[in-house]
Amino acid sequence: MLLLTSNLTELKGVGPTVANRLTNLGLSTVNDLLWHFPSRYEDFSHLVNIANLKLGERITVKGKVQLINTRRSWKRRLTITEALIKDNTGSIKAIWFNTPYLATSIKPGAEVMLAGTLTAGNYGLQMEHPTIEAVATSGIHTGRLVPIYPSSSLLSQRLLRNLISHCSPSINLIKDYLPIEIISKFKLLPLAKAVYCLHFPATLAELTAARRRVTFDELFLIHLKSLLARKSIKQTKAESIPFQESTKQLVAALPWTLTADQRQATWEIIKDLGKPSPMYRLLQGDVGSGKTIVAGIASFNCVRSNLQTAILAPTEILAQQHFNTLSKLLAPWSITSALLTRGHHRISSSKENISASLVKEKIKSGSIDLVIGTQTLLQSSVEFKKLGLVIVDEQHRFGVMERQALIGNRTPAPHLLSMTATPIPRSLALTLYGDLDISVIKSLPPGRLPITTKLILPNEREQAYKLMQQEVAKGNRVFIVCPLIEESDNLGVRAATTEHTRLQKNIFPSIKLGLLHGKLSSKEKTQVMNEFKTGQAPILISTSVIEVGIDVPEATIMAVEGAERFGLAQLHQFRGRIGRSERPSVCLLMTDSNKPNSLERLKALTKYSDGFSLAEFDLSHRGPGDLIGQTQSGFLKLRFAELADFALLKTIRDAATLIFNIDPELRRWPELINKAGTIDFHPE
Ligand code: ADP
Ligand code: MG
Repeated sequence: MLLLTSNLTELKGVGPTVANRLTNLGLSTVNDLLWHFPSRYEDFSHLVNIANLKLGERITVKGKVQLINTRRSWKRRLTITEALIKDNTGSIKAIWFNTPYLATSIKPGAEVMLAGTLTAGNYGLQMEHPTIEAVATSGIHTGRLVPIYPSSSLLSQRLLRNLISHCSPSINLIKDYLPIEIISKFKLLPLAKAVYCLHFPATLAELTAARRRVTFDELFLIHLKSLLARKSIKQTKAESIPFQESTKQLVAALPWTLTADQRQATWEIIKDLGKPSPMYRLLQGDVGSGKTIVAGIASFNCVRSNLQTAILAPTEILAQQHFNTLSKLLAPWSITSALLTRGHHRISSSKENISASLVKEKIKSGSIDLVIGTQTLLQSSVEFKKLGLVIVDEQHRFGVMERQALIGNRTPAPHLLSMTATPIPRSLALTLYGDLDISVIKSLPPGRLPITTKLILPNEREQAYKLMQQEVAKGNRVFIVCPLIEESDNLGVRAATTEHTRLQKNIFPSIKLGLLHGKLSSKEKTQVMNEFKTGQAPILISTSVIEVGIDVPEATIMAVEGAERFGLAQLHQFRGRIGRSERPSVCLLMTDSNKPNSLERLKALTKYSDGFSLAEFDLSHRGPGDLIGQTQSGFLKLRFAELADFALLKTIRDAATLIFNIDPELRRWPELINKAGTIDFHPE
């Protein structure tokens, strides 16, 4: 038997070429292959007598090959292979195109299984392009729930199925790391059995049970990991940061009054900061609900107690924007802020970039109170004098590890405030983020005009472009977001560039259009954004990088091309880029799709304006998969989470409670802890 660690080249039939193709799918060991699960199954489990066949049925028949031969059709380059298969009840014709080798590998007299769909031929029922398999080795490609694996065009399903079938004895070597208490109490399949059933499900029920097990594992490990993280954070000491009277003055000096929700959230945070153990709080608020100022007030309170604050943002543009807003807010209090990203290293007292090492020196010496930055902040070369508070904006853009990285092993530990615009229901948040505390900002600041959302079908496009032109003429700005079109264009650079050229040339020849995508240098990005803000280039064509936090009050149109390709939560995020002033704004969802499902989904956006109602719609129509995807945005590749339902989410939390009750330190299950520690993160 092959070991799980054995290289796939040890398998018969895997030469260098095939090995290479497997590696391209991320498969190099037996273990990799066994964890390469089907994306779907074709149900060929119904074995039917030929006499009982019916048109349109998807079936498997078993019989003897009477004759088989290949001829060339009058259409050039087309070969037709025909066979007659007979069982005790009758016979049926099978036909294949351009697979002449069939006639040489399968001889008359052979016992075979044929799986396929029945169609009407000239001489009665026939099977077109059925899967054929010799009875002696059958049960892999026919006569069962036949798995269809994620693959490339160079690796056939047949080959993958054969290889997995070869490796299947090694499945027994897969160790189960879940406590037996959990497996039995929550009726989960043992891990090896689940893996086996995913490849070779005997029944649909078995398949469902197997999926439940791997889905459970995926989310349970995340849950456990965040619980453990929180536990270790709560066990550490934090600097207790008292409420500063001057914080009231800061709030009083704001150009507007805080909303009730902002006030409540701020208060919850300030109370947490006063405790001797670290705050571990999530601030949830719809786009535009005003989370930044809450972060600003918390930072102020911390800085006034002579501790530093770090704000982590997912993009340079957002970091820059926070720096501009907050350094202005805090300047009158002689608070020094710094911006530290790949392309920007600035301090609030100077207009110019200074060297990154100088900024780091100042952070280390403590002459900088508030640091705002991107991933760059996570480098070990960034040392703080006394870090009191870490704020992570758009936290779903970061992995758990990154969220923890700034906290590090510091003693006393800094307080942590995570912020998100993804309005996920509490039960889901609790499972994903462990037992953290949550503050919610539900209402938007007053005076905002509601955003109108419209579906734009192909025949309404002209009108939409006219509207954009009118808005620009009024001095307003227009966003146009483009989707990824091809897999290979994974940053959407090509899609946005093509659309930019087309619109510039054919639709808006007299308006300067900006182009923003992730491949631009930070200098270029800043320039594009500046031209957009100032109105030099009042229409911005962009990839989805625009999604996060950008604040341009003059923007009154958000047009999304190929809107059906985006998730609801993401579209809602896009929409949050407009309606940031008293000017009326419109969100245009442009689509060429005529699928009822897609249109219904998009219509939900025209109906619901707040993220929480939208999330509920999404949940009730599509389950938590999309939402989970949104909360983990590309970092953690969740493979099964979309299969989770609410019952399973609850089970996961119950299971965690169960084992923490048995052994609060989880010392009994080192493999489990290990496993939770190795959850993969893929920063993109
Ligand atoms: P988000 O929650 O999406 O991060 P922001 O913090 O960017 O939202 O706030 C959106 C806009 O609302 C900003 O221009 C901000 O100045 C403004 N704003 C925030 N709070 C209030 C308030 N209480 N009253 C009026 N405007 C506010
Ligand atoms: Mg924000």
